[in-house]
Amino acid sequence: MVYKGSCHCGAICFEVEAPENIEAEDCNCSICSKSGFLHMIVPKSSFKLLSGKEQIKIYTFNTGVAKHTFCKVCGIKPFYTPRSNPDGVDINVRCLDAEPKSIKVVKFDGQNWELHAHTLSHKSEE
Ligand SMILES: [Zn+2]
Repeated sequence: MVYKGSCHCGAICFEVEAPENIEAEDCNCSICSKSGFLHMIVPKSSFKLLSGKEQIKIYTFNTGVAKHTFCKVCGIKPFYTPRSNPDGVDINVRCLDAEPKSIKVVKFDGQNWELHAHTLSHKSEE
């Protein structure tokens, strides 16, 4: 099904195709634990930016592979390009307008990213 989502001020709007029942990762790394990001990684082809391209700012740190895209107006990060799947898009489930029917939350140990990243890799190729 197709979900709509947005940042807080509504400048950035997007659509994403995903199942009714989803699995989401709850990551404990330095940035996710502070922002409360709940991850759903999808292939780029399942994602469509509807508006707000010019409002997007990019923040990077550490390896610089992940592109943390956030709204320069309200500061919310509704999606970004993850280090585990740079060819995919990581959606913040908390930024979807309608909640999925069910969300299976899986803990992801991002504090020890190198040890666990393989469990996330190639999700974007599904
Ligand atoms: Zn915004």
